[in-house]
Amino acid sequence: MAEQKYQHNSCTRREFVIASGVVIAGGLVSCGKQISAPEAITRTVPSTIRVRIGKNVEQVTIGNNTFKAKALGNAIKTIAIKPKTQVTISGKTKTITGTIVLQPKEREPDRAFDVVACVPIEQYVPGVIAGELFAHWHFDTFAAQAVAARSYATTQHNARATSSHYDVTDGPSSQMFLGDVTLDVAHRAVEETSGVVLIWNNEVVPAYYSSCCGGLAATASDAISGAAQHAIPPLLGHDGKDFCTTLDVHSWTAHRPARSLRKRLNASAKSLRLPKLSDVRTIKSIEPISTNKHGRPKELVIQGRRNESCVLRARDFVRAANMQVPSLPPITNLAWSSYLAGHKVGATLQLKGLGMGHGVGLCQYGAQVLAGRDESWQNILSWYYPQATLAS
Ligand SMILES: [Zn+2]
Repeated sequence: MAEQKYQHNSCTRREFVIASGVVIAGGLVSCGKQISAPEAITRTVPSTIRVRIGKNVEQVTIGNNTFKAKALGNAIKTIAIKPKTQVTISGKTKTITGTIVLQPKEREPDRAFDVVACVPIEQYVPGVIAGELFAHWHFDTFAAQAVAARSYATTQHNARATSSHYDVTDGPSSQMFLGDVTLDVAHRAVEETSGVVLIWNNEVVPAYYSSCCGGLAATASDAISGAAQHAIPPLLGHDGKDFCTTLDVHSWTAHRPARSLRKRLNASAKSLRLPKLSDVRTIKSIEPISTNKHGRPKELVIQGRRNESCVLRARDFVRAANMQVPSLPPITNLAWSSYLAGHKVGATLQLKGLGMGHGVGLCQYGAQVLAGRDESWQNILSWYYPQATLAS
């Protein structure tokens, strides 16, 4: 379950810059109480989200028509489609309502193009939350997730409106998007929260979320990037233990051959631009050396056999430890989060960790526990995004 869930997780979101627009502030909630008067909100929720559903593809079938890169040339093609049209890329089909744009690859227009679905946002969000959560989960988990997904997509759209031909992708590095879905709870959650986004300081919050925080909130400044937009109270995490710790799924162990882990760290030095990783030799232990204000590891120290050490950001260690390297066997047991420690036992490095994903913002498993205790979606959001208000 944990593994499947992690595949549906969003854990490598990037920086953003917010562009212009207008939103009118509506209901405000914090732990069920109104916390401040609404001020003029100066940012907007877009009517349409541009989702890249195919990257560098040679062909796509839309309804009964197939489009090939060779025939397309270098012109951008916008295709009006009927609602619920089947779009097939590399054997995988999504049902799409909206418009399809075929964007030729800049340098090789006759060889490949991106497929971008331009989907009305309230049509888009059900396809996200159905992909991010288990179908049997509580309504209020879905509703909280809907607001987070809508807020995140809004900030992505505003950041990329003029700089990119798409706002989001459809996979775990952005938000899952299944296309049109029939899951009733997803549609009810989107209707109940229609148009609602998280706001802080008159801006829509880039509402990062992950599968499971492991018990202590990550701060976006540590786990995502040091951009100024991430140093805002709603993304700095709540104090105290999270509710996901009541579930077994919140902890994990991964056994790795110590030698191949060391080689993987060495091999990732170049692509991660962390030359110090190429100096790592026989690993004795991996321990947190600094934490965020909630006690979650921020940096780890890799201790070597001769007491040499290498200090690096916890998230960089995870990226390196999970990097596929052609000369090494494929990884079968991922490090699920940067909230971890490791010790060598014989020839094996035992990694023990808490949580899945980056741990910033809403914790999906924790939200599900809260919803199971009859907490409302508004209360769930105010726990995971401190000081954020709601606007619609
Ligand atoms: Zn949690």
